[in-house]
Amino acid sequence: MLENAPLRAYNTFGLEANARFLTEISDETALHAWAQWSQTTGLPRLVLGGGSNILLTRDVEACVGLIRIAGIAVMDETDTHVSLRVGAGENWHNFVMHCISMGWGGVENLSLIPGTVGAAPIQNIGAYGVELKDVCAGVEAYEYETGEIVHFTASELHFGYRDSFFKREGKDRFVVTRVLFRLNKPPHALHTAYGDIQALLPNDKAADIEAVSRAVIQIRQSKLPDPAVIGNSGSFFKNPVIPAALHAGLKANWPEIPGYPDAAGGVKVPAAWLIERAGWKGYREGNFGVHDRQALVLVNHGGASGSDIAALSLRIIADVKAKFGVELEREVNVW
Ligand code: FAD
Ligand code: NAP
Repeated sequence: MLENAPLRAYNTFGLEANARFLTEISDETALHAWAQWSQTTGLPRLVLGGGSNILLTRDVEACVGLIRIAGIAVMDETDTHVSLRVGAGENWHNFVMHCISMGWGGVENLSLIPGTVGAAPIQNIGAYGVELKDVCAGVEAYEYETGEIVHFTASELHFGYRDSFFKREGKDRFVVTRVLFRLNKPPHALHTAYGDIQALLPNDKAADIEAVSRAVIQIRQSKLPDPAVIGNSGSFFKNPVIPAALHAGLKANWPEIPGYPDAAGGVKVPAAWLIERAGWKGYREGNFGVHDRQALVLVNHGGASGSDIAALSLRIIADVKAKFGVELEREVNVW
């Protein structure tokens, strides 16, 4: 356990902030001991995986637990499926690569997402038409109040668009310790509807999960800033789902506005389109700003403060609201 420990290496924005206490947690026993001890400090707790979905706006006056619980265990296997129980501290992308090497399908569209397996259910990570909820069979989580491991089925977690029970009623009450997966054995159903994937694999009859993963990796490397080079936390804002009537009204003024109907009758609009049209793409103010190739991504050019980035995000929200009447919501967790 470290006191006043620098967190710069533990958040992909690369922001300078100190944790009052910092502890690496490698199994459930250590987690229980840390939870009991942290209670005696009177400080709040913050658990982190890879720190790729958090904006630190100040020092973290809290007990920070780095979740490093490892292990990928096969629990059950049939001719068509495999059931896995995976430690929350496993690196997400390494887990995806392992699944592909074993011929287990379902997570290939989620290649190259940074972070840990344990954080994946928190916001129901998603990319290219696949979400964690499509492959998640359940979650084991430590409950601070009781000191017990609680077993959740996937349906109990109320997964939604970048949302779950853990972001609402379960917030700050549980630590995900293991995630249960149900993956497919060949033949695999592939998800290749997104335009960028179509462009790389047009009607490719020979495509398999490995080819889809390779395509996703290639697209992401060409579009997204690498946090090792320029600090960021991926998409800063969620894509808003707006009423169909509002979308039709916007289309009258901007005929090229994209929109994807959702199951509930609304229309999902890419936040990146709104931010770009509002003039923010590539905006730079000193050492922070908006990425010049992906308007959804706020960046730290080096030495920025988290509070400056948070303030910028609020200005973007207000400007998009004034120009389009659409309220953006932050996806990144702000501390
Ligand atoms: P952290 O940032 O460490 O934590 C995120 C939140 O989850 C915090 O509130 C934390 O307290 C909580 N948390 C973490 N671990 C646990 C646990 N074990 N138990 C309870 N709470 C926990 N996201 C997508 O959905 N799709 C994408 O395509 C995508 N692309 C990205 C690309 C880039 C370049 C970057 C930087 C980020 C991207 N993200 C994407 C966001 C991010 O990678 C994911 O949200 C990821 O799941 C975060 O994992 P993490 O371990 O880094 O979480
Ligand atoms: P993109 O392919 O340029 O598409 C722009 C937006 O339109 C996406 O955000 C996507 O919504 C939506 N979209 C595109 N094609 C669609 C389709 N056929 N059906 C439904 N919706 C469609 O997006 P991008 O920025 O390059 O990102 C590609 C994928 O990676 C997206 O799924 C995105 O969510 C994910 N990603 C997430 C993060 C993050 O930090 N959360 C960072 C980078 C990339 P959805 O976002 O709902 O898919």
